[in-house]
Amino acid sequence: MKILVTGGAGYIGSHTCVALIQAGFTPVIADNFSNSHPLAISRIEAITGTRPESHNCDIADPDAMREILQSHKFAAAIHFAGVKAVGRSVSEPLETYRENVAGSLSLLQSLKAGGITRLIFSSSATVYGGAEQMPIPENAQVQPTNPYGHSKAMVEQILQDLAAAEPDWGIGVLRYFNPVGAHKSGEIGEDPQGIPDNLFPYVSQVAVGRREKLQVFGDDYETPDGTGVRDYIHVMDLAEGHVAALKTCLQSDGLFAVNLGTGQGSSVLEIIKAFEATSGRSVPYEITDRRPGDVGTSYADPAKAREMIGFEAKRDLTQMCRDAWNWQQRNPTGYSNQ
Ligand code: NAD
Ligand code: UDP
Repeated sequence: MKILVTGGAGYIGSHTCVALIQAGFTPVIADNFSNSHPLAISRIEAITGTRPESHNCDIADPDAMREILQSHKFAAAIHFAGVKAVGRSVSEPLETYRENVAGSLSLLQSLKAGGITRLIFSSSATVYGGAEQMPIPENAQVQPTNPYGHSKAMVEQILQDLAAAEPDWGIGVLRYFNPVGAHKSGEIGEDPQGIPDNLFPYVSQVAVGRREKLQVFGDDYETPDGTGVRDYIHVMDLAEGHVAALKTCLQSDGLFAVNLGTGQGSSVLEIIKAFEATSGRSVPYEITDRRPGDVGTSYADPAKAREMIGFEAKRDLTQMCRDAWNWQQRNPTGYSNQ
């Protein structure tokens, strides 16, 4: 069964391609490599023994998409392609909306023209903004606090309207919490360009000696140690969550939205300690001001994902740190210079 995977060379997309191949699906990647490296495709092959077909194209290019869609019989699409930097979404909102909203809209029109009505969409826990209720259930209010979150919420709305108007669509909206770690082989992993925005890649780069110390953004939150608490989920669990969601969406019409998280929160200081313990390296840090726009605590209620798609995260924090560290050590500068 062929699955179109937009953004399949990226961090989550590459791990999902591995999980898809291992589950017997045939992913076909459409990626413009704006935030990924073609080497990721060879690494997927190294892990699975299967080289996924890949196309260097933009999802917003209807001609290129038509060509791909006409040359295969796809059962569904998984849509990862987009931009994810929250800071840049604040400074360049039009770019974020063009990539994420206009890009998705164009892709949906191409899929519809190509007769594909099964879709998994990468959304984010960012749509919940500063939710009051913890853990966060899917029926919590959608109230994003930045343009990136709004762009995800807008696409969710478009998909809801589409599913309501055209009952032959089957759509799974996946709201990811904090994906971290790497495939256990160390062949694929997260390869941020420039200074990492996110905690895990920053901590690994400090541990490997690429950066001097971590800034801990605030220790005065209402959390047990004062630092921010998040729901970190191993990227291979997340990838397997896509396979589970895909199987559900292939069999049911309408739209479902589920959280992909573990239901467990960890603080920044707990992550530092866990990373030091697994890597055997020290991670120097200093406490700085809060990062503007950050919330104190965010973790998922994973019950609906368990009930609807039969998904439960299996890998613990030690595995997340071990696999992130293995990837970092084997690829100290990511995919570049190799
Ligand atoms: P990523 O940047 O590693 O992957 C995105 C991929 O899409 C890249 O390979 C990039 O080259 C490609 N791409 C971007 N624009 C494109 C376009 N117009 N046409 C074709 N390809 C294009 O990001 P990721 O971490 O793998 O995230 C994947 C998806 O999950 C994104 O939609 C992101 O918003 C969402 N998400 C990510 C996180 C996270 O923490 N990583 C959390 C929640 C949601
Ligand atoms: N964080 C930090 N230093 C960093 C990056 C992140 O202290 O260099 C904190 C951040 O304030 C939050 C947690 O780590 O409490 C996770 O941040 P990340 O950016 O990885 O995820 P998000 O904020 O999107 O959940």
